[in-house]
Amino acid sequence: MLSYRCQCGCRHCVYACGPRWKDWFAKEKLENLFRGMREASPHINGFHLAGGEAFLNFELLLFAAEKAISLGIPIEYVETNAGWCQEPEAGREKLLALKEVGLRSLLISVSPFHAETIPLKRTICAIRTAERIFGPSNIIVYMWQFIDLIKRFSEKEPVPLSRWIETFGEEAAGELFWEGYSLIPGGRAGIELGFLSPEKHPATYFSGKNCAYEILASQHVHFDPYGNYIPLFCGGLSLGAPEDLPAFLANFDYRKLPLVKILVEEGPFGLALFAKENFAYSFEGKLFSGKCHLCVDVRLHLSRLGEFEELAPPLFYENLRSHLPPLEVQNAS
Ligand code: SF4
Ligand code: SF4
Repeated sequence: MLSYRCQCGCRHCVYACGPRWKDWFAKEKLENLFRGMREASPHINGFHLAGGEAFLNFELLLFAAEKAISLGIPIEYVETNAGWCQEPEAGREKLLALKEVGLRSLLISVSPFHAETIPLKRTICAIRTAERIFGPSNIIVYMWQFIDLIKRFSEKEPVPLSRWIETFGEEAAGELFWEGYSLIPGGRAGIELGFLSPEKHPATYFSGKNCAYEILASQHVHFDPYGNYIPLFCGGLSLGAPEDLPAFLANFDYRKLPLVKILVEEGPFGLALFAKENFAYSFEGKLFSGKCHLCVDVRLHLSRLGEFEELAPPLFYENLRSHLPPLEVQNAS
């Protein structure tokens, strides 16, 4: 993650990215991380560069792509929301520059959540331009099926999420968002969109559902611009901010991190009990769209105390606390 900065601030973003974030990965830290990755894991299965929105700092993105490729790290793709592609020529220049340094593939996001701020015509502009430069089979559009649906509302203007709810009704729209997009209920998704989830459970439902796989065994990790080692998609949960990645991995012991230990062994319900017993957290009367929703709710409560290094970066929680404007739905069926 070159930054959490993103012009969109989508309601489903598991990293709570948005325009309020300012920082970018420092080049020397990035290079140090890449070298650490090479040393720690000579057989990296895949790697991608993303933000926030990485194209907002194109010079850094180009540097990162060039550096990773020159160090032999296999970049699968750069991920983008395509908001920068206002006309094909500007897109062409950027993509050609990336191709020149060795990039072979691009992932372009398209969904009702992105369409709240990005007109579909920009997404299509990026897809068509990228297809010509990298070849159609090297463009991943996540998710294709939403293009036709968004077109029904508008190709030229952003489409508020409330329009989907007004058109399809809360239940069908909720299913489309949660099941059609396979939303991960972490970060903002549970908080902002949990009420639309077809699945809602009390905290006790998640008893015994631990996170050993997600934290220790998924083999998928994100590094943020502050150096945080974030397991899988667990936005706001840091296993550390290592300067020396190989040494960090060799010495890592999850039992030294109090909240991570609970999550690995007991999962978010264990964390909820811990927070209830020690820090006046309450889950009574609340419903959660998935275990990550519960986890974020508890962590948001704990983050106010400022005692836990694992709850990083702090801005993640500040961003979650400043809610997005509510969905204003009229005439929902
Ligand atoms: S989901 Fe992607 S486009 Fe949306 S706020 Fe997060 S980083 Fe930005
Ligand atoms: S419940 Fe928390 S620790 Fe477990 S996978 Fe979800 S965000 Fe990660």
